[in-house]
Parts: sequence; C-alpha cells; structure tokens
Amino acid sequence: MPTIGVLALQGDVREHARMLQESGATAITVRRPAELDAVDGLVIPGGESTTMWKLADIFDLLEPLRVRIKEGMPAYGSCAGMIMLADRIQDGIEGQQTIGGIDMVVRRNAFGRQVDSFESDLDFAGERVRAIFIRAPWVESVGAGVEVLGRAEPGDRIVAVRQGPLLATSFHPELTGDTRVHRYFVDMVREL
Ligand code: GLN
Repeated sequence: MPTIGVLALQGDVREHARMLQESGATAITVRRPAELDAVDGLVIPGGESTTMWKLADIFDLLEPLRVRIKEGMPAYGSCAGMIMLADRIQDGIEGQQTIGGIDMVVRRNAFGRQVDSFESDLDFAGERVRAIFIRAPWVESVGAGVEVLGRAEPGDRIVAVRQGPLLATSFHPELTGDTRVHRYFVDMVREL
C-alpha cells in the first residue's frame, strides 16, 4: 500500500487523509522534512496559498518540497494546493512564491470575484463528478506538456490538469464523499 502524505501546514488536512485511506493508501501528515522523506506521494490541500507558502518557508519545507517534486514525487494539489504546484501565478500577494512543478499560469481567486462558492457537475478524466469550488483559482494557460483533465462553467475554464506525476484541481473532491479523484491519484502513485 503506498504511503501518501498530506501537507499539514494549514487547510483541510483531515478530509484528504480520510479520502486517501478509503482509496487504498496509508495517509500520514507532513509538517517536517523527515516526514516528507517518508512518503511516496503528497496531497497539498485547499486552504490559503499565501499562508501555506509562508508556513512552508518558516517550517523549512519549501526547498525540500521543490527538491522532491523535481525528483519526480507524485503530488496532487487541490485549490490552494493547485496554486502551490503552479510554475506561475496571477493575482498573488506581493512576493508570493509557489513550490511549482506544473507548467501553467494559475489565477488566484479567479472564480471568487463572481461567486465565492459554487458546485457544478463536470467531466474529470472522462468521469462525471460533482465539483465544489470555494474561492477557487482557475488555470489561465498551460504549457505543451500539460494535459487538461477538466473544465467548468462559467467560461469553460480549465480546472483540472496533469503533468506527468503532478495532478491539480481547482475544486475540492475531499468534501464530496466521492473518492474517484483520490483513487485516480493513488493509481498515479502506484504506477511510479
Ligand atoms: N483563495 C485561496 C488561495 O488563494 C484558495 C481557496 C481554497 O483553497 N479553497 O489560496
């Protein structure tokens, strides 16, 4: 069974851990570099990307996270986690950094200007899923190596992407009780 960490600096950590356990993985929380060393893959939860970035820096995790991702560790970022995995962001705060890894531009709080929170049905990797968006980002543009896995109204925006071992969604599958997105990620970890 793969061991998958949930970055536990801030955000909805417990919900992801429960979904991973239900999807055939052993879930552990990651707050320290030594805990990061112990995982086969990592979930970066939703929360607030500016806070997560600052805490990752304070806890000396930012560089170790970048190194593991460069080495090919599978990672899945949801909402704020998607922002953390983006190589480039728009509408971040002054000096805001990410871990990076996915060749894309993510616009922070993009849906939030119209409606803070909404739900919709959309196709994720060919399966119909219920998606919950909470002050969610969208993907403004992707590089050639990035596969688009899902789009949402309004605007047919890109809300799910994959680049090799990295997965990101604007929405929060951990809040639905439907484990298919987490199973998709657990399978990605198993394949490596
Ligand atoms: N707006 C938040 C951010 O900028 C993300 C919201 C979320 O994760 N639900 O990080």
